[in-house]
Amino acid sequence: MATLTLKNVRKIYDKKVVAVEDFNLDVADGEFVVFVGPSGCGKSTTLRMVAGLEEISGGTITIDNKVVNEVAPKDRDIAMVFQNYALYPHMSVYKNMAFGLMLRKMPRTEVKQRVTDAAKLLGIEHLLERKPKALSGGQRQRVALGRAIVREPKVFLFDEPLSNLDAKLRVTTRTELKNLHNRLKTTTIYVTHDQEEAMTLGDRIVVMSGGLIQQVDSPLHIYRKPVNRFVAAFLGAPPMNFIEGTLKRDNGLAFVSNVGNVRLNIPGRLADGASRYEGKPVVLGIRPIAMSEQPIGKFAPPPGDRVGLPGGYTITLETHVVEPLGEKIDVSCSLPGAPDQKILARIDARDDFQPGKPVILHLDFDHVHLFEPGEFGKNIAL
Ligand code: ADP
Repeated sequence: MATLTLKNVRKIYDKKVVAVEDFNLDVADGEFVVFVGPSGCGKSTTLRMVAGLEEISGGTITIDNKVVNEVAPKDRDIAMVFQNYALYPHMSVYKNMAFGLMLRKMPRTEVKQRVTDAAKLLGIEHLLERKPKALSGGQRQRVALGRAIVREPKVFLFDEPLSNLDAKLRVTTRTELKNLHNRLKTTTIYVTHDQEEAMTLGDRIVVMSGGLIQQVDSPLHIYRKPVNRFVAAFLGAPPMNFIEGTLKRDNGLAFVSNVGNVRLNIPGRLADGASRYEGKPVVLGIRPIAMSEQPIGKFAPPPGDRVGLPGGYTITLETHVVEPLGEKIDVSCSLPGAPDQKILARIDARDDFQPGKPVILHLDFDHVHLFEPGEFGKNIAL
């Protein structure tokens, strides 16, 4: 168990490619931190610098109050699990798990104890004599995990460990990983490009883009209060809808206009922060789950009232494509007068939903955000 600190960490490849810029993070003892972001944003490079597999161009990495910049990977007391498992094909599962310990000259009985314990924990005791080629992808992944666990390292580093598994196995293994962390409580850094994996696994998530940290926080906090449009677009599925328009005010009510022939009111909680943007371009962000056909209890508008309620309001949308998901349906809609401005709504399923007809949807303000223009436009409410 250990704390881990990255301070002003940078990585420049070949004197020109800035892969990681000024990365600062404190990981608490026992914490599970996920680095997430699109391909090429610098996640693996950062992880590899912590592992010592990549030289650091600037800054310091500290494990348990000891700067490890110059410490060899094998002496950092970390264990890494890779995407491709990196098992030795000619060795049995037992040997694969025991090998690192034997290299360290650990007494045989202790090696056996650790391998047996880890195998039990992972449910692979019956596979110990097999070679990797006789294992399924999921089983290989467990062996790779087992090999990391037996080391009893201070820190676990995972680099997309589930990406070679099929969708179903990925989800079950994800749950097992979380369970394992709850039991072992080893400080962990986990890299993935999958926002769902990040949300479900992380105590905290580090959202990265272009070698920079965009936001660090708990999954729900990031989901509810994304600092900018990039983060808002990256976390949450299906992704948030973005509508560009101009911020206006009429009779004290702020709204986004220039979107077809509708006024899109903005939540009262955003109005104060938004006042300095009046007359300027803004981007309204609406999560697909913000919309529903039945106004929910507290938000129900009085008959005839379409605007300006504290919790939300209703809008009439044109519907195009309907995709059933079971309990829910995804409806691709557009705003009246703005056929190109598509909005995806995830609403409760009903059999008689007819695409092509207008639908009145209630918009829940809790899931509506306002951003400055641009891919990284900042959240106006924060
Ligand atoms: P991620 O893990 O988020 O997909 P990486 O950390 O692998 O991203 O890469 C970050 C950036 O550094 C990318 O632009 C990538 O092309 C570049 N990069 C990664 N490894 C090398 C390398 N060995 N030499 C040069 N550039 C590299």
